[in-house]
Amino acid sequence: MDQPKLVVVHSFYNPNDAYAAKSILEDSDIPAFLLDSNTSTSNFGSAIAIGGNRLAVADMDLKEAELIIQDFLKLINDPSVEIEKIRCPRCQSELVTNKPVTLVKALLTFFITTLFLFSSNPYYYCKRCKYKWNENKRT
Ligand SMILES: [Zn+2]
Repeated sequence: MDQPKLVVVHSFYNPNDAYAAKSILEDSDIPAFLLDSNTSTSNFGSAIAIGGNRLAVADMDLKEAELIIQDFLKLINDPSVEIEKIRCPRCQSELVTNKPVTLVKALLTFFITTLFLFSSNPYYYCKRCKYKWNENKRT
């Protein structure tokens, strides 16, 4: 009877982030569980009061899960990490405007459902040569 122990990887204040993180872990074949999710999704205020949406994995998966979650947190906390790499494909200018929130949401939802990805197009617009392109269609 060697039951794996559940350990909390991270507590999310935002239930959507918690669900996104859960599906990212599951994509990596790490079974993940959201504790308190029923209570906290019903009321955002109570989520903070009880410590957020706790994402838990089996203790044997903890190390790998922590690495994945760290990458995920970098992504949702600091959209500029991804944005910095983007240059205008026509004039190589970095004077590019975009919608960071849309891009991050598109990246996150890519893990959840590709359907949502196609409904939100992350368009970029070059301030220098007025070129407009869709980052999704460049590869
Ligand atoms: Zn340009």
